[in-house]
Parts: sequence; C-alpha cells; structure tokens
Amino acid sequence: MLAINQPAVTIKNVEVAIADRAWSEGFAPPRPPDRLSGRTVAVIGSGPTGLAAAQQLTRAGHTVAVYEKDDRIGGLMRYGIPEFKMEKHHLERRVEQMRAEGTKFRTSTAVGRDVGAAELRSRYDAVVLAVGATAWRDLPLPGRELAGVQQAMEYLPLANRVCQGDLAVSPMSAAGKHVVIVGGGDTGADCLGTAVREGAASVTQLDIYAQPGAERDEDADPWPTYPKIYRLSAAHEEARDLESAPAADADARLFAASTLHFSGDADGHVRALHLVEVNAERRPQPGSGRTLPADLVLLALGFSGPDREDGLIDQLGLALDPRGTIARDADFATNVPGVYAAGDAARGQSLIVWAIAEGRAVAAAVDRRLTGSTQLPAPIGPYDRPMTV
Ligand SMILES: Cc1cc2nc3c(=O)[nH]c(=O)nc-3n(C[C@H](O)[C@H](O)[C@H](O)COP(=O)(O)OP(=O)(O)OC[C@H]3O[C@@H](n4cnc5c(N)ncnc54)[C@H](O)[C@@H]3O)c2cc1C
Repeated sequence: MLAINQPAVTIKNVEVAIADRAWSEGFAPPRPPDRLSGRTVAVIGSGPTGLAAAQQLTRAGHTVAVYEKDDRIGGLMRYGIPEFKMEKHHLERRVEQMRAEGTKFRTSTAVGRDVGAAELRSRYDAVVLAVGATAWRDLPLPGRELAGVQQAMEYLPLANRVCQGDLAVSPMSAAGKHVVIVGGGDTGADCLGTAVREGAASVTQLDIYAQPGAERDEDADPWPTYPKIYRLSAAHEEARDLESAPAADADARLFAASTLHFSGDADGHVRALHLVEVNAERRPQPGSGRTLPADLVLLALGFSGPDREDGLIDQLGLALDPRGTIARDADFATNVPGVYAAGDAARGQSLIVWAIAEGRAVAAAVDRRLTGSTQLPAPIGPYDRPMTV
C-alpha cells in the first residue's frame, strides 16, 4: 500500500474529487468574520502564501489588502504553472470566495515601485511579505546572448497568457522549432509539456545528473523520504510521442549532459546547443561531445531568492539570510518591526503545499501580535523541512 511495497495510489485525484464535490455542493461558502478588529494588514504578493495568509487574517476580523504587481491574482499558480497541470478555475473560485469575505485586492501594483514600501508600512498595522523567490539563475556561456535563448519564466507566462485569452499565439511559441531545455527539474518538465502542446518539432530536456535508478534505494532514501528514482511525468510521456527527438532517450531527456556553448545563424538567432557528457564529479567524458539542433533554448536552472528589482527589500532595509532569502525569526518576523515574511521569499523555492502552510502560520503569528492571542492554526514553523535525507 501507499508506496511501501507498491507505487502510491492516486491520492491526489481522490482529494481533488472530494474538494471539487465540496465546492459544487456548496460546502465551501464565504466565511466573512462576525466582527471587525479595527486592525489593518497589507499582504504583498498574491501567490499561495499571500492568499492563505490574507484569507486567515480576513476571517479573523482584520481588514486585509493584497498588493500584487501582476495584472492577475495567483503568483506562480497563475503565470508559472501551466494550465495543463493546474487549471486556473480553481484559483478563480478561491479568489471569488475571498472577495466575498472582504479581502481587498490591488493588482498591477508593485510595492517599492508603484507604492513606497515605507509608506505602506506606516499605513498598516502589519505587513506580510509573500513576494516569492523568482530571481532566476542564468547560464553565462558563449552564445547566451543569441535570440531564442530564453529563461523558462520568460516563456511559461506567455503560454499561460494564451490560455487566459490575452494572446492568440505566444511570441515565443515552440511551434515547428527544435527545443532544448536546460535543467532537469519540474520547471523544465513544465516547459517540455508546454512546448509539446505548442507543436514543437522536437524537444530535448538536459539534466546534469546521471539517470537515477528505477527503484527506491532503501539505504540512500528509506521510506518515507522522497526517493530519487527515475520518473516519467505525463509531459515526458507526451514528448516520447514526438517523431523526431533528435538525440534524447525515449522520453526526451538526456542525463549527465553539461552545456558547453550555443551557436547561432548570421541573424544572431540560436541554432544549436553543444554539450558534453559528464561523470558524477561533473568531469567531461572524453569523446562525448555532441551538438543538438536548437531554435529555442529554455533555461530552467532554479531560482536564487526574491526578485530585488522593485526595490522593496532595499527600501525596507530587510536582512537576508546567507541563501539570499528574507531572514525571519521563529515568529516569522523580519528585522523590521511589524513586517513579516513567509513562503518562497523566506523559505526559498518550494511547493504550494508549503506555501499554504506558511501563509496560515504567518497569519497566526500576525493575529497574535495584533490581538495578544490567536485561534488561527499554525501548521508549521519557519524552520520545518520536508522529510528528506
Ligand atoms: C514553473 C513552475 C512550476 C511549479 N510547479 C509546481 C507544482 O506543480 N506543484 C507545486 O507544489 N509547486 C510548484 N511550483 C512551486 C510553487 O509554484 C511555489 O513554491 C509557490 O507558488 C510559492 O508561493 P509564494 O506565494 O510564496 O510565491 P509566488 O507564487 O512566487 O507569488 C509571489 C507573488 O508576489 C508578487 N510580488 C513580488 N514582488 C512584489 C512586489 N514588490 N509588489 C507586489 N507584488 C509582488 C509576484 O508577482 C507573485 O505574484 C512551481 C514553480 C515554478 C516556477
């Protein structure tokens, strides 16, 4: 049962079916507070962290405004995660419920740029920073400047905008192109699924690590730790069906592959990616160099911390921890009085389930500070980690 001696059952589908039924039967009505506390909270960022925090604080009776620099609510759930993985109507119904409960939303408002961070701090009794960690890592190799070498998070939001009806066709569409994705993680897999749907001629995903085994290694990853095993996501299965994956294995992935440089045509557009196979110490294997055709290269190399372009972090004088994320104490409080930090912005890029738990926990901390006590649940502390070795 449940990944002890067999693969896990479809827990997600079971939970989704229960939740969808609850909404359709009217078991998730808006729950506005009975009375208002007279205290105000600004939540900056409308990803899962900000939404979870704002909903709890609104229900506790505080007057809450969510500031979001994008034109729509949702953070990475809106413009990062593709529609095929998370349909946006789930998001819409939650935002509708929150509006009915009294949460205010201010979209297209970048705190630090459109409204001063210090001003916001003086206007509200507490400020929750839920700004995510979207400063992307780059790959400064020869040819990086060529047109068509793009960041995953430049590419995915455009595809999401097509699904939202903002654009008829993505200006970075993979249609008819040879696509190479650099980075073996989930963001790369989302690029792969999107490129396949856009009609790419071929898609290859490069992973610098060696291909993991098919079975859980009980010594390295004993249950219930997250096992490092070879998995075939739905996106990889779809890519396998493309006729002309030029060099990849059956599921479009190339493991132990390290990019050396990109080369382009006379117009300055990328046309090829040059790579070499590496061993476990990342040393090149002699004679293993190869060239992949590449009209679109997507860099999916992870994120280093919160984006600093809006000036929010500097305006508030926030202390960062050594990883570049916002430092906070055991009560989610930053070094700036009345300012709290939660979610990816403080934890580093993580998962929605952690973001929601962080949002609920920071709401409890803020409620306690504003009222002296709290009934809100705090599912996690700022230093809790998933069970991994
Ligand atoms: C491509 C991709 C796919 C992913 N897929 C999954 C998945 O399948 N499952 C999963 O569990 N997790 C997934 N994740 C991770 C998950 O999306 C994040 O962990 C989660 O969204 C973090 O939530 P957050 O609210 O902390 O930050 P975010 O979702 O990043 O939200 C932060 C928000 O703050 C806003 N903001 C930033 N600065 C300002 C400012 N100065 N003023 C106003 N607003 C501001 C941003 O515009 C953004 O809307 C994925 C991540 C990526 C990049």
